[in-house]
Amino acid sequence: MITKPTMQHFASDNYAGICPEALAALLAANAGHVRSYGDDQWTLRAADRLREVFETECDVYFVFNGTAANSLALAALCQSYHSVICHQLAHVETDECGAPEFFSNGAKLLALAGEEGKLTPAVIEEAVTRRSDIHYPKPKVVTLTQASEVGTVYRPDELRAITTTARELGLRVHMDGARFANAVASLGVAPAELTWRAGVDVLCFGGTKMGLPIGEAVVFFDRRLAEDFAYRCKQAGQLASKMRYLSAPWLGILENDSWLRHAAHANAMARQLASGLAKIAGLQTLFPVDANGVFVHLPRVVEQGLRERGWLFYTFIGAGGARLMCGWDTAPETVDRFLDDVRALSALPASS
Ligand SMILES: *Cc1c(COP(=O)(O)O)cnc(C)c1O
Repeated sequence: MITKPTMQHFASDNYAGICPEALAALLAANAGHVRSYGDDQWTLRAADRLREVFETECDVYFVFNGTAANSLALAALCQSYHSVICHQLAHVETDECGAPEFFSNGAKLLALAGEEGKLTPAVIEEAVTRRSDIHYPKPKVVTLTQASEVGTVYRPDELRAITTTARELGLRVHMDGARFANAVASLGVAPAELTWRAGVDVLCFGGTKMGLPIGEAVVFFDRRLAEDFAYRCKQAGQLASKMRYLSAPWLGILENDSWLRHAAHANAMARQLASGLAKIAGLQTLFPVDANGVFVHLPRVVEQGLRERGWLFYTFIGAGGARLMCGWDTAPETVDRFLDDVRALSALPASS
């Protein structure tokens, strides 16, 4: 089946292009000779702007992608004999090819179950206290994904409950914020309330999925944890020499809260998609649609029919079912067209 180059899809929010604000800032940064390796005015200003967004003095590093951001941040939080507590659906566990273990020289991920893609204080406490002998990899970090891999979000009170338990157990708190913007837009609270004020030590703030061409920001709220982090980035091949092209787009998207507007739009498209699906007989979303992702079990004839009509989406991510992600540019008409196709295919006699 031929897919038109202009067709929009629900496979991932990283299928979308660059948002206009980020692109304009990228082009504006393409002027003349400037210092390399981050010692340029765009990088310094982008880091300052992030400190304003988070209302605190924090250390900021720009890297190429989320796998590197997560892996290097986790490596900074633990020794090789430590373990990192994560949800069993966490990207660090299922989608990073062992990079967190590799960059931490062997720290072990302890993957735990939890409803709706989220960890709770109880499961964390159980994992930490069940063993305290020398043979067990000593738990040192808990990592939370915000928004989660199944499109739910942690509310500030849920975060505080987890980080309070983490503190009591001697754990550091890392947040995989590949879709942090969608979580902030969904909850309508200050970014600080979902991070350092809620006890988060380090955030990997996703830029790519919210409309940047490339890149994520690693934000250390506990600045002591950032010691030598620049060397980690360099050693891992994550220090961009023309850093301005990673950092300048952040200035564009953070200006006038464009990042939150785009994230709110993506969330709204997901809600529109979910409510449309719910009106089609038998189609139940599998999780609350808090952010920009919808998970749904599609009958086989519908799934195959959608693929034959050119739609791209994943069925292997999360907890089964089709994962439908909306991006900053997802058009309402795309949602309508998809729903029309689902409706038409659902009306066919079921063959499975
Ligand atoms: C997309 C994503 C990342 C980053 O993935 P990269 O492809 O390495 O940039 C990290 N965490 C989550 C939850 C993601 O969805």
